[in-house]
Amino acid sequence: MDDAETFFSRSYQEARGKFLAAAEAADLDVHSEIHPLLGRDGETLALDVVRSGPRDAEKLLIVSSGCHGIEGYAGAGVQIALLRDADFLAEARCGGVAVLFLHALNPWGMSWWRRVTHENIDLNRNFIDFHQPLPKNPGYDALHALLVPASATWPPPPENEARLQAEMARQGVAALQQAISGGQYSEPEGLFYGGHAPSWSQQALRHVLRDHATQCARLGWIDLHSGLGPTGMAEPILAGDGRDEALLRRAQSWWPGLKSTHDHSSSSAETSGAMSCVVAQECLQAQYTGIVLEFGTVPLLHVLQALRADQWLENHPERPLQTPQAQAIREAMFRTFFVDTPDWKEALLKQGLERIRDGLKGLRENPVQAPA
Ligand SMILES: [Zn+2]
Repeated sequence: MDDAETFFSRSYQEARGKFLAAAEAADLDVHSEIHPLLGRDGETLALDVVRSGPRDAEKLLIVSSGCHGIEGYAGAGVQIALLRDADFLAEARCGGVAVLFLHALNPWGMSWWRRVTHENIDLNRNFIDFHQPLPKNPGYDALHALLVPASATWPPPPENEARLQAEMARQGVAALQQAISGGQYSEPEGLFYGGHAPSWSQQALRHVLRDHATQCARLGWIDLHSGLGPTGMAEPILAGDGRDEALLRRAQSWWPGLKSTHDHSSSSAETSGAMSCVVAQECLQAQYTGIVLEFGTVPLLHVLQALRADQWLENHPERPLQTPQAQAIREAMFRTFFVDTPDWKEALLKQGLERIRDGLKGLRENPVQAPA
């Protein structure tokens, strides 16, 4: 793929520019939900929405990026390649499938090279019912002070790290991953924090879905992520309730090798407040089939170390972001969620486009069923 390099970016502004240019080249309009804050370079931040296909299409395929801010550098590259793929757009059109591109669900995190939103919220843990008691995660609560210690310096003192290592040995990596990344609602300055209210990104996404996804009878959704699973490998993970057998069977038939957090076959922990919960609220009329497509970067423990350092830096606003250490922590975040080698980028594009084509095929081949 000769053009692979040109689809990727190192800044939000650059990625947004490429996305908007690709939309214009495909003669598609853009609608933007403007974020209230500016980005790292003083730029406008937005969730940009591009639709290919008629408003009243019976079948809609959503391809979204940047749910986890910095992971958007991988996802946006795939979206830009897709928008530049005239054959794909024509195939969708001929099959009666409209395609909705959502660029940078969390534009603030993408711009600032963070995984979370400006509210320090993990958007993929934020879709819970805030009128109900918040989910509890005692496993996280017990580890919080070790994961993100209040120490004035980073890395934390050796005794802190020794205690964390001992916990890892005692509980095992899988149990620890579940406790740390399953989602928590008690520590606003902690990791994988789901928030106390709907984030800006959640509200912006709801606006977009009300506008674009309330007419379709069938809805496919591929939400692009990076940072989990073997390096250079795409892992399709069911996005939705793993106990819903009809959904699971449909998704398995669309995406061979589908994993699920429900049966622990996936690289991801089982999480609370996942973004896919929004479908049952905003797109009730549609039969939904969707995945999170994870693309592997570096080993899990490297990801955890990068996230800890990032959160520590965030919790010490007295530290100027221009210091060499702060820049090194930010740069490590970028390298954790985007592997800047030709092979990795080529693999990402190839597998990403294949899995999106699988979604298109699934929508095209399954007839629209009358509601029971
Ligand atoms: Zn992610």
